[in-house]
Amino acid sequence: MRWNPRLEGMRAYEPGKTIGEVKREFGLHRIVKLASNENPFGCSGKVKKFIAEAGLETALYPDGYATELREALSSKLGVGPRQLLFGGGSDELIVIISRALLSESDNTVMPWPSFPQYRHNARIQGAEVREVPLREDFSHDLDGMLKAIDKKTSIVWLCTPNNPTGGIIPHEELKAFIRKVPEHVLVIVDNAYHEFVTDPAYGDPLDLTEDFPNVLVLRTFSKAYGLAAFRVGYAIGSEEVIAKLDPVRPPFNTNVLGQQAAARALDDQAFIESTRQQNESGKDQYTRFAEAHGLTCPRSEANFVLMEVKGSADAAADELLKRGYIVRSGDKLGTPGYLRITVGSREDNEGLLAALEEML
Ligand code: PMP
Repeated sequence: MRWNPRLEGMRAYEPGKTIGEVKREFGLHRIVKLASNENPFGCSGKVKKFIAEAGLETALYPDGYATELREALSSKLGVGPRQLLFGGGSDELIVIISRALLSESDNTVMPWPSFPQYRHNARIQGAEVREVPLREDFSHDLDGMLKAIDKKTSIVWLCTPNNPTGGIIPHEELKAFIRKVPEHVLVIVDNAYHEFVTDPAYGDPLDLTEDFPNVLVLRTFSKAYGLAAFRVGYAIGSEEVIAKLDPVRPPFNTNVLGQQAAARALDDQAFIESTRQQNESGKDQYTRFAEAHGLTCPRSEANFVLMEVKGSADAAADELLKRGYIVRSGDKLGTPGYLRITVGSREDNEGLLAALEEML
């Protein structure tokens, strides 16, 4: 077989271990997974009731245009229906965008550490990857990113709140940056953790799509909406950009269950508010622990924290695994010496912190 030579040396994405794997490996009964920034409170009760009662059609293809969800989202966000593009998670939108815009003659600019799928897909397309390190305080180095842009740049990726560091780009800085980006460059603003943000300086990045046709915002139902299993993400941008991307999208890329559950989930903003509040108290638990133990834990606007550990993060993550807690080691995420811990329920946060305390 003659594989695409760009796949040489590439590995598939390795998510954190599954609960089943850890159970088998360590013979444990109760495992707490705080590794993939899912919603520990599940999803809206309205969605659960709908799934139980829906009697969904299985033999027919889903609506490839996701009409019901499109209309629901379009009216919630105040954007036109043709300003939306749906994907099997925002993961698939990253694939679609990369296929549509990147080839060997392009380069793409992104922060590091950040979500690794931007560079993974750029490499598959054969584009040059220009990673601009975050500043020491983990904020985006927007000036550095501007300097990295040239005539061959097709996409600039921004992640706010950033995974794995949790910081946001303040609205005014984001706007000033986008003003300076040449019009031939598509600016992706990945807002996977949008619903968790409480800092007013964040504003709403969506506003920028009104004035700048080269801005595309990515959001997802996987995080605050608690629908990671159903794989629904969406992009919001100008009709021109969406129309260019749409032919790259597989025809039935979001499924019946995902589309319908996402539309129901939008109706339950009380669930999102409750998730946000519980997430804030959860983050306080981690911040207090860090302060009490003299560990760095930078302010996160997402549903995870970066917690400093003294010594190797890989070793700390392995040790937590033995105690039934799955987290991500920063050694693998570009933040060595830190663990990335998803904020869980109060009891699970307490349990994890008690385990960490024993290990200190
Ligand atoms: N962007 C960021 C910043 C993420 O952290 C994630 C998930 N870890 C995604 C995109 C992809 O999420 P999904 O495909 O579930 O929408």
